[in-house]
Amino acid sequence: MPRALITGIAGQDGSYLAEFLLAKGYEVAGLIRRGRTERYERIAHIQNRLQLFEGDVLDQVSLTGVLQKFQPDEVYNLASQSSVFRSWAEPILTGEINALGVSRLLEAIRSTNPKIKFYQASSSEMFGKVRESPQNELTPFYPRSPYGVSKTYGHFVTVNYRESYGLFATSGILFNHESPRRGLDFVTRKITYGAASIAAGRTQTLVLGNLDVERDWGFAGDYVEAMWSMLQQSVPEDFVIGQGTAHSLRDFLRTAFEHLGLNWEKFVHIDPKFMRLAEVEHVVADCAKAHAKLGWKPRTSFCDLVGMMVDSDVKLLKAQTSPK
Ligand code: NDP
Ligand code: GDP
Repeated sequence: MPRALITGIAGQDGSYLAEFLLAKGYEVAGLIRRGRTERYERIAHIQNRLQLFEGDVLDQVSLTGVLQKFQPDEVYNLASQSSVFRSWAEPILTGEINALGVSRLLEAIRSTNPKIKFYQASSSEMFGKVRESPQNELTPFYPRSPYGVSKTYGHFVTVNYRESYGLFATSGILFNHESPRRGLDFVTRKITYGAASIAAGRTQTLVLGNLDVERDWGFAGDYVEAMWSMLQQSVPEDFVIGQGTAHSLRDFLRTAFEHLGLNWEKFVHIDPKFMRLAEVEHVVADCAKAHAKLGWKPRTSFCDLVGMMVDSDVKLLKAQTSPK
């Protein structure tokens, strides 16, 4: 049985990746932070099939300890302070986790077992103020937030350990991917939960920031397959993963509210407090390399993704109001 360790297993992608690897016959372990038990709901349904180790990417010794105990063949580093918005309020912590955390894990791998295959969760936020469109593996980076800057460090240190030490280290440059398990502070889930709450009569408004942005949104469940596929190649390489289509935030709003028979313009208010100090206005992936070398293509369309998220939030709200 191959063995995989996932940092950030209790997060959105970690939960889908764990499900995917278990279905492939892997023995799966996850790194979890002490005292965060309330956050395990995404993996509750598979928790008895996982080995969970306490640790933190802020702590080198905990990482070495987990690698020694579990002896994985593959490590997926998904642990992150993943909110761009919060990264201005917590720039140092964001750098410690997203940038130096990658160095700590790579060093732990190098000293424990340099044969371990390593996946780093890089981000389209590295393209930031884009230099060309669409963006591919050769597009220069121009990050626009402490988050984007920290991810750019994580990307290059992964490339550096591949080139300096010959590690099988890869970086997946993933564009925004969402799901019913997405955190409520990300705009997609904020919208689908907000629309479902309005439809249920629980609230009358949804307050957002900048609507003049475009993203290349896909389904997280599709994207974890690309992560795994990158580690099954004979040569470690970096890949851009996305849908290849940009949608505006207004498109997202329209699709979500229309799914419930509502007109979004009647409910959405703007509050500058949700605006960013610097904005990533438009990103869209060029995934030609992933299509050609990994044979990977997304299965879920934008409309199906939005519908899935709205339906899930409608169900969630009903469950919250139903008597137990
Ligand atoms: P989530 O925020 O859902 O999950 C992040 C996980 O990291 C959480 O489980 C969190 O643990 C854990 N974590 C945070 N800090 C630490 C730490 N110091 N030590 C150990 N674990 C920690 O993010 P996603 O699942 O959406 O994203 C997965 C990865 O992919 C992240 O690296 C993200 O930056 C990156 N990414 C995501 C994209 C997206 O659109 N979703 C796009 C591109 C990249 P806890 O539960 O304890 O808080
Ligand atoms: P990001 O692409 O990783 O920053 O993902 P988010 O879902 O946090 O934000 C996507 C885009 O939505 C950004 O350009 C935000 O400026 C924009 N946006 C507009 N209103 C909001 C809001 O209320 N919350 C969030 N999180 N983003 C918003």
